[in-house]
Amino acid sequence: MRRKLFLSTFAVILVTLALSMLSVNLVFKRQFTTYVTKTTESSISQLPERLSSIYTNNGNHWDQVSLEEMSHYLPMGTQITLKTPEDKIITILNNPMAEMMQKSMMGMGMNYSIDEWKTQTLTIKGPQGNTIAKAEVRYPSNARLLNPDDISFVTAVYRSLLLAGLVALIIGLLLSLWTSNRLVKPLRHLTYAVKRVGLGHLDEKVLISSHDEVGELANAFNSMADDLKSQENLRRQFTVDIVHELRTPLTSLQSYIEAFQDGVLPPNEENLSALSEEIDRLVSLSSDLKDLNIAEIGKLHPQLQPVNLLSIIEKVIHNLSPLIQEKKIELTTKLPPESVMLLADERLLTRLFYNLIHNAYKYTEKEGSIKVELLYHNKFAEISIEDTGIGIPEDDLSFIFERFYRAEKSRARETGGTGIGLALVKQILLLHNGTIDVKSTVGKGTTFTVSLPLEKEQK
Ligand code: ADP
Repeated sequence: MRRKLFLSTFAVILVTLALSMLSVNLVFKRQFTTYVTKTTESSISQLPERLSSIYTNNGNHWDQVSLEEMSHYLPMGTQITLKTPEDKIITILNNPMAEMMQKSMMGMGMNYSIDEWKTQTLTIKGPQGNTIAKAEVRYPSNARLLNPDDISFVTAVYRSLLLAGLVALIIGLLLSLWTSNRLVKPLRHLTYAVKRVGLGHLDEKVLISSHDEVGELANAFNSMADDLKSQENLRRQFTVDIVHELRTPLTSLQSYIEAFQDGVLPPNEENLSALSEEIDRLVSLSSDLKDLNIAEIGKLHPQLQPVNLLSIIEKVIHNLSPLIQEKKIELTTKLPPESVMLLADERLLTRLFYNLIHNAYKYTEKEGSIKVELLYHNKFAEISIEDTGIGIPEDDLSFIFERFYRAEKSRARETGGTGIGLALVKQILLLHNGTIDVKSTVGKGTTFTVSLPLEKEQK
């Protein structure tokens, strides 16, 4: 990465330099050469006057020395053929410097040969307005830089451009080194941390406070490590809980069997049914665990289809009525006469209401009462299950949806609870975008209120 950044900076600077040289070259070709041509033409326009004054100052005579002196001031590359009005050549004038310049330029490998010319024929008049001579002027149409001042100017521009480019190159490379260091360093930290997490060190954190993409990546990494850690803790806790839950009924079974073997207890109906109850607990624990585990790891895919909430609740009540009646609990319902449709998994919703109503039955003393109510409006259905049971202590309320949590454990054990029912209720509601609320007073009763989105709102 560092090398790539380095190379790309290098390339960018080189391209910029080449482009600026090219554009300077173009500008010179267009602007500067027109400027040079214009200067040449303006000094040519002054020629008739100058030549005429040379003629008159020398007593109406063409003096070769004065003419040659003037030729030093001719623009580079300009040639004058001075002729009499009768076309007889008087002299040919050139700037003597031009030839020298051209030679030395060519010696330096620069092509300054002139191949396109412009010509002008100027009439030189005497003081009385009579024609004294004709000057045929030939000058480069595409004025080249033959003037030493012009050439040194252009060379200076090129040189300073090159120098600026070199300075830019050095600064750019240093900057890219600095930037790549800044970029690469946190990435190295991250790579190290990822490797450590891969080896199981889930406490690994990266301390990057920058607010850019790398900072975001570091934050994402840290929260991923946190998630992994809490998942790992959950998994550990889950295993500890399961071992604990299994040990109690298994120990109880073991002691029953040992007692039977030692003849301490007779294997009569009463003892055998106690044994069978423990086995029932184990069976229901294992099936609860299976559902809960699948739900928690997100593999419980609900089979969503239109279902009638009313008939689910009625079915659950119907199944539980013999138990409820046996305990002389009064069950009242307040249900709408028409169907309440929603998109849901029927098996899971049945399980949800079974758990809630079965809990109400379990934790309500004999001759208590249970009230099941179903209300619905536009978007939601609200189902409340109210009992006059033992209630849940306030301190326990926030924990009852955690798996294996039982308020007043000894009593729950008597009722054969596994502490998984409400955890499963929570997971089923998560899958259906539903919510649950609980209100309870110890000794008076508990009300669970479930809210489920109706058909249109379901995903
Ligand atoms: P369990 O199998 O023990 O009933 P749950 O997850 O269904 O497990 O419930 C967790 C705990 O919440 C129970 O052990 C019980 O203490 C308390 N609880 C649940 N429902 C009620 C209720 N209707 N009345 C009183 N306590 C309840």
